[in-house]
Formats: sequence, C-alpha cells, structure tokens
Amino acid sequence: MRDIIIFGAPGSGKGTQSEFLVNHYGLTHVSTGDLLRKEIADGTPLGCRIKSIMDNGGLVSDDIVVEMIGNVVANDTLGVLFDGFPRTVAQAEALDKLLASRQRSISCLISLDVPQDELIKRMLLRAATSGRSDDNEATIKNRLLEYESKTKPVAEHYRKQNKLISICGTGSIESIAANIAAAVDKL
Ligand code: ADP
Repeated sequence: MRDIIIFGAPGSGKGTQSEFLVNHYGLTHVSTGDLLRKEIADGTPLGCRIKSIMDNGGLVSDDIVVEMIGNVVANDTLGVLFDGFPRTVAQAEALDKLLASRQRSISCLISLDVPQDELIKRMLLRAATSGRSDDNEATIKNRLLEYESKTKPVAEHYRKQNKLISICGTGSIESIAANIAAAVDKL
C-alpha cells in the first residue's frame, strides 16, 4: 500500500504529475480541489457555501475537507494519491490520524519546487483555457499568499517524519515524472 501526497504551490504541476503517478502506481486519485468544484457545479448546499471562498483564493475550512477525505480512504486498494490535501498542518494531523486508524501511513510527500515568477506565468497561461474562476490575477496572488502562510508548513511536518522528497518542478513533464519515479522506487 502506497499513500502519497503530491505537494506544491498552485501552478506547480500537481495535477499533471498526479496523472502520471496514478497510472504508474495504480493509485486512487483524490483531489480536494476537484471534489470541491464538483460540489459547486452540482449546486449543493455545501457548494453554495464554499464558492466565494474559492473564488477569492482562500482555503475552505479544515472540517469540511477532512470529512470529504474520510469517505474516500476506505475504498481504495493500492493506495491513495492525495492532490491538494493536506493544505494546513491541522489537515496533515487529521490525515495521519485517519490513516493510522486503518493501519496505514503516508509513504512520502513529493514537493514540486517551482520559482514564484514561473508559477504566476503558468497560472495566467492556464487562465486562458481552464475556465476556472480562480485563475485570475487578484485570486492568484491570494492563493500564493495562502500557500506561503498556511500550506508550506505541511512540507515541514512531513520533513520531520523523514518523508519529504523535493523535486525540481521545472523542465519537461517527462523528466519531472522520471525524477519522481526514481525517488519513489527507492523507498
Ligand atoms: P491549485 O492547487 O491549482 O490552486 P486546487 O484545485 O488544488 O488548485 O484547489 C483550488 C481551491 O480549492 C483552493 O484555492 C481552495 O480554495 C480549495 N481547496 C482545495 N483543497 C483544499 C484543502 N485541502 N483545504 C482547503 N481548501 C482547499
């Protein structure tokens, strides 16, 4: 069983490399961003509550996302790839507890490291095609601020557990994927 976190700033390529990891290791992909966007698209009561938070680039409350995760961790066989979660240390602690209660634990956190000017360039480029209401200049700034203050400490949380793998997130998609696989295969 391999439970892996793909980690990095917005625009760092988590979604792209998630696809590779899911196919290569047969993991179940869990993206909290996708789950939350589905709530909004379906017009659920939860979706109505979280839409303005997401449009402003803020983080949805820990309670809401942790509850979503609890439901998916039971239904996989080879392990889960967590994408966009945990985004706060409180979420990381909740995830550690949830996995421990099922005799599991995180294998590694893969951090995709990309310089900030490159992140902004990528997100503005993506804005043209993604249709995502949070891909605009003002929201992007706020997402990066939220990442620096609340999410970055999650990498430190797993570094203390000796589970941090840092990967350079610039270069070709294939070369980044190869570097990730080499590191994961060594575990
Ligand atoms: P990106 O990493 O490209 O910013 P995501 O699709 O992962 O995009 O997330 C989009 C938005 O969904 C975030 O800006 C945030 O508002 C919300 N979100 C996603 N995952 C979480 C989470 N684990 N905790 C709180 N909010 C989240």
